[in-house]
Amino acid sequence: MEIKSQNEMQNPLTQYRQDGFPKQLQEYPGIQCEMDPVPDCGEESYVGNGRLKGRKALITGGDSGIGRATAIAYAREGADIAINYLESEQKDAESLVKLLEKEGKKVILIPGDLSDEEFNKQMIKEAHEKLGRLDILALIAGKQVSKKDIEEITTEQLTNTFKINVFSLFWTVQAALPLLPPGASIITCSSIQAYQPSPDLLDYAATKSAILNLTRGLAKQIASKGIRVNCVAPGPIWTPLQISGGQQQEKLPKFGQETPLKRAGQPAELAGIYVFLASQESSYITAEVFGVTGGNHLG
Ligand code: NAD
Ligand code: MG
Repeated sequence: MEIKSQNEMQNPLTQYRQDGFPKQLQEYPGIQCEMDPVPDCGEESYVGNGRLKGRKALITGGDSGIGRATAIAYAREGADIAINYLESEQKDAESLVKLLEKEGKKVILIPGDLSDEEFNKQMIKEAHEKLGRLDILALIAGKQVSKKDIEEITTEQLTNTFKINVFSLFWTVQAALPLLPPGASIITCSSIQAYQPSPDLLDYAATKSAILNLTRGLAKQIASKGIRVNCVAPGPIWTPLQISGGQQQEKLPKFGQETPLKRAGQPAELAGIYVFLASQESSYITAEVFGVTGGNHLG
């Protein structure tokens, strides 16, 4: 499928694949370069406009999917970036470095496990030291494990999902707050699952609801520091999360087709909102949530 520049008007129905996806299963957390088809993170299409010139951003989950699309967009908008991901995702992280280095941009790599409290603190310290400042936190990493019955959810799964999706936001923000200047922006990643939970994603959906609630409360708590906090809530997006245990295999052939736009979204389609919320264009927006759902609106 031909990928056009984001600046060109296109029919959203036919902009990306409408056919659904072949069944495939990788070990968690999945490697994006090995997916069929490989998701579009804006490698060919994202055009920067200096909207984040000179900013310093940390992006969790930056190797693949929505985080990678955000990383590409931030770098092309003029930000210096650091990304976090799991060590097992080095292949995806390196392909991002290669892409952006060709464009003369540096990416700081901070691999590590967000379920570890100490690592969250170290990650912030390292990002701050290596970038020289920290202005934007795009906290996008997440874990999703589909289980048909509540009895199948082990305490280990429950604990991990909550640690990675929710606790790590507390740990990261606690470490970052003393370092963030007025004008800084924190962006979290919820999901349509916070509004319309699927029966096979009980623990995940509960974390996504918690993220939304935390975003709003935190935004009010730290508004007086001049720091904004907002949330993005995606619908069905084609990413490694879906093929590494996050989705029932039988749903992949029709994944995303139940939306009014009749197809799954691609990570590149989230880049714009992550840039907008990080930039000064959204100066009067805080404690808000933005759906990117293909029409299955929030609420
Ligand atoms: P993805 O697999 O590309 O990204 C998830 C990332 O989370 C991984 O790349 C990995 O680096 C990171 N991660 C997972 N466990 C980790 C751990 N223990 N420590 C550090 N990092 C860890 O998939 P994605 O769909 O782009 O996911 C990004 C975010 O979008 C997630 O928060 C997800 O819940 C959310 N989301 C996705 C969809 C969708 O349909 N794909 C829908 C709604 C919300
Ligand atoms: Mg990944």
